[in-house]
Amino acid sequence: MKPVIYKLWLSRNKAYKKGFSAGVLKKKIYNGFCSKCKKEFRIRNLHLEHTLPVMVGGLIFDKKNLTLMCVRCHNKKTVLDIKCINILKKMGVISSHTYTVDFYLHPHRVQEIFYYVRNIIIAATPSYEAWNGWDTEYELIMWEKNRKTWESENNEKT
Ligand SMILES: [Zn+2]
Repeated sequence: MKPVIYKLWLSRNKAYKKGFSAGVLKKKIYNGFCSKCKKEFRIRNLHLEHTLPVMVGGLIFDKKNLTLMCVRCHNKKTVLDIKCINILKKMGVISSHTYTVDFYLHPHRVQEIFYYVRNIIIAATPSYEAWNGWDTEYELIMWEKNRKTWESENNEKT
C-alpha cells in the first residue's frame, strides 16, 4: 500500500473569509489583556498568536485559532511551538519545504500528536506550567473547512 502524503500549501492557508486582515482581527479580539500572562497591554503591544501553528495546519485568519499575546509570552510560545514541530520532524510525521509541509499522516492525526507532544513538554517544564494554566480547549481544524489548503497524493515516500 502506498502511503498518502498530505501537502499543506502554506501560501494557500489564507482567510476563507475575505476582508479579515491581521489588523481587523486584532481589533476584534482585543480585550486589553495578554491571553497568557493576563497583564494589561495596549493593542499595539500585543501580537496575534496562532494557538495551533500554521506549520501544522492552523488557520491564519480563523478567530478560533487566534489570541493576542504580549511580546514576552509570544516569544515563549513560539519557542515551544518550534520545539514541538522539530520533534514531529524527527519522528518522521512531517517534513517542511519552502512552500509546503508534507504530512505523512492525516492532518487530524498530526495535530493530535502535536498537542500530545506539547502537553508532555509543558508538563515537564516547570516554567511553562507556572506561566499560565494550559486549560484551553483546543479545537482541531476542520478538514472540510480548510480543504483548499491541502492536496493529498498517493505518491510513494522517497
Ligand atoms: Zn503576556
